[in-house]
Amino acid sequence: MKISKDFPNGQTKFLGLIGFPIKHSLSPQIHNYLFRKYSLNYIYGCFEVRHLKEAVKGLFNLGFVGFNVTIPYKEKIISYLDRVDKEAEVIGAVNTVRVNGEGLAGFNTDGRGFLKSLEKFSFTPQGKAVLILGAGGGAKAAATYLAKAKVKRIAVYDIIYKKSISLKNRIEKFFPKTEVITLKEKKEISLREFDLVVNATGVGLKKEDPSPIKLEGAKKHLVVYDLIYNPLLTSFLKEAKKKKLLAINGLWMLIWQALEAEKIWLGINFYKEASTIYQILTRYLRKC
Ligand code: NDP
Repeated sequence: MKISKDFPNGQTKFLGLIGFPIKHSLSPQIHNYLFRKYSLNYIYGCFEVRHLKEAVKGLFNLGFVGFNVTIPYKEKIISYLDRVDKEAEVIGAVNTVRVNGEGLAGFNTDGRGFLKSLEKFSFTPQGKAVLILGAGGGAKAAATYLAKAKVKRIAVYDIIYKKSISLKNRIEKFFPKTEVITLKEKKEISLREFDLVVNATGVGLKKEDPSPIKLEGAKKHLVVYDLIYNPLLTSFLKEAKKKKLLAINGLWMLIWQALEAEKIWLGINFYKEASTIYQILTRYLRKC
């Protein structure tokens, strides 16, 4: 579908993001940039959803071709889908839904987005030891793809210990060769054992938030990754930079997961747009 002049019109197709809260999202900027640039007759919007079941029914009846799912619905959405892709099933969360004649199919593009962002910084997970802070949706996606990429060991620390255990059980079920350790308390963390540390908690979303852990005792080559992209530089990443460690924020992951979702919805590979989108979003976030 390629038109430009009468855009949007009666044939415009709809995509969007459901979650709560949702106003901070950068997904509309990414997807609508692509639709405008390639004159595709689609619009992507954000929808704050209070009642998931009704919202999903509504999106289906309104003829949406797909949608993204974010906090707090990435797990709950699964019970409203007709089919869940194998990778999303392994992760245990869905962030992308495709709607067509066969019904609603769920996918997860967060993990692939995370892995592609590591490739961007030439980090090879195979044989490495990784510490993940948090055991929610983002952590599950990252841990699954790290296990797929044959990391040697994953250590998980979440303030709710049973969430760490649940992540461990999930990874060990699908990737028996990956060793998963759960840490009950922060004081058990010894950073010198790790090659990569990932913040998958929400600590850092507020500019005044402290770093979730101190980076004392880190190896010289420790890579410090924060899934947060707004602010671009959290206290965690600031501390990493001070220690001259490689510091990566969540912006590349966000962009890659969006481009993977486009492949699922439209069947189009927009990978070559990743750098341009990164520049646009970085400029935008610096002004925020
Ligand atoms: P979740 O709420 O599902 O998971 C976060 C987990 O971390 C929760 O279990 C939370 O516990 C726990 N936690 C909170 N504080 C701490 C702490 N100090 N130490 C250890 N654990 C803690 O969120 P998501 O996994 O969906 O998202 C996590 C972060 O990752 C968010 O900042 C999100 O924006 C980001 N993200 C970025 C993506 C990207 O594309 N860049 C993609 C997905 C997520 P409790 O529930 O009790 O607070």
